[in-house]
Amino acid sequence: MKTNASFPKKIPLLLWALLAAVAAHAAEPAAAPQAAKCEALAGSLAGHWPDASTQLASARWIEAGALQMPGNPWQPPHGIAVPAHCEVVGQLQEREGTLGQRYAIRFHLRLPATWNGRFYFMGGGGSNGELGDALGAGAGATALDQGFAVASQDSGHDNARNADPAHAGQLVFGFDAQARANYGHASLPLVADAAAAAIRAFYGEPARHSYFVGCSKGGEEAMAVAQRYASRFDGIAAGAPGMSLPRAALAEAWDTQSFARLLPAHAGRPPDLSDLAGSLTEADFQVVRESVLAACDALDGLADGIVADTARCSTRRVLPELDRRQCHAGQSTDCIATSKMDALLRVMGGPRDARGKPLYAEWAWDPGIAAMGWRSWKIGGPGAQPPALNVVLGAASLASVFTTPPTPLAADPQSLLQYQLGLDLGRVAPAIYARGDGFPHSAWEDISARSPDLDGLRARGGKLLVWHGVADPVFSVRDTIAWWDEVHARYRGAEQGFVRLFPVPGLNHCGGGPAAGDFDVLAALVRWVEQGEAPAQLPAQAGQGTPWPGRTRPLCAWPAVARYNGQGDIEHAASFECRN
Ligand code: CA
Repeated sequence: MKTNASFPKKIPLLLWALLAAVAAHAAEPAAAPQAAKCEALAGSLAGHWPDASTQLASARWIEAGALQMPGNPWQPPHGIAVPAHCEVVGQLQEREGTLGQRYAIRFHLRLPATWNGRFYFMGGGGSNGELGDALGAGAGATALDQGFAVASQDSGHDNARNADPAHAGQLVFGFDAQARANYGHASLPLVADAAAAAIRAFYGEPARHSYFVGCSKGGEEAMAVAQRYASRFDGIAAGAPGMSLPRAALAEAWDTQSFARLLPAHAGRPPDLSDLAGSLTEADFQVVRESVLAACDALDGLADGIVADTARCSTRRVLPELDRRQCHAGQSTDCIATSKMDALLRVMGGPRDARGKPLYAEWAWDPGIAAMGWRSWKIGGPGAQPPALNVVLGAASLASVFTTPPTPLAADPQSLLQYQLGLDLGRVAPAIYARGDGFPHSAWEDISARSPDLDGLRARGGKLLVWHGVADPVFSVRDTIAWWDEVHARYRGAEQGFVRLFPVPGLNHCGGGPAAGDFDVLAALVRWVEQGEAPAQLPAQAGQGTPWPGRTRPLCAWPAVARYNGQGDIEHAASFECRN
């Protein structure tokens, strides 16, 4: 093969340098114009925003390299590699709210130089109020790194600015009807439209495909988008969707009350979060895990530590195994005390009013109940590290955001615990559905997304992929399955063309637990939307924190279950098939 290796030597040095400079420029043809275009966005978009109140705080070009990310309770500060992109921060609908609070909906966009033509809207988390990083972290490379234009938002309140110690601190937004609506859903189309305008201005064309991806509160937002704003998105991924958030907050109080029954009466003081964290021991959890496995592991054809056939793993099936492990007189190891078993059964049955009417949903029996990701919510980690998240996150949300009228609570953990312990759930439940006192909508109307009506999504050809950990202690997979049953009843099988549900056995809330819990939701969703390949299963892998790192399994579209084929390597997905 002829080469031109000697070519440069025959060219005068100056000319060679000139050619090299031209070649270098050709390799990144748009860098300089893109940077200029980025920094001119405020001007080029002025007067062209879909919502006239929109303002840009900044639009700046960021070269490829490492961004230093601030830390959070789960992750220390760290560097993350980003491609060259235009970073935009803006806000819209700034206004004076109740209690002297000034609100706005802030948004954050990252528009990569090398664009794949797609838009990715990141869901929020918890009580929101954070701008988000607009990176789109997922199973592999971030969405930004994959070439998506990525948006995040604070949903209309700012934790740094909107905090009032006399009104539930950062949950003061619960005292403002519009801020509640923005938190639940109303901010989403406004930010989606602002992002679309910025994308058109920056790239000169609209995104070819738009996606919404979120988990937990972000999963609720994904469901809200699917049910209310489907015209804006081609593909939606809802993980562990908090689609019944206000009801789940009732369950959190019910759980606390149930486990508090186990606490000894302390002379002169009420129980505290350390007492609650000690209500069940690690040994107790192991007995529960063994009972669940004995009752249900083999239902899917293989005793492998994974209960894939969760529909058949009923309380009726697990109860005899728990009964067999009850402590006899004088026995204290390898058994569970009757009082503990009763408290656990009360929790697993879900919250009820005084007449026994369910207020939320039952919980699924799964070996992931014995993982940290389950107990850290329900009772707290050992030694109350962390303290029960059901108490420190759930109590104030129920009082201030999910009920009308809102009630301010003192933010210290002991006050939150006392509030949950003193609640009459049957009396507080109607406040979830109540309007009035300056609130034209109930909390349920604004901050839930549980409708089976997906006509809009279906009509526009959108796809909704829902996934949920079976051992999620915050939002019950049984509630999600009950919703799916309603969807199925409405569309009688046709739903498979536009919505699919993937329970993830062993998985806790959005992650953690003994699960094959690493899977690429975004890739599956993109293939469904753009190639029409509806996912019958998602390939998944167990991570380092599980008993079986590297194990692979198919996650099956409900109601199919991953069943062992009776032969082949039990560590490998190929030995399993999705069947009812
Ligand atoms: Ca099994």
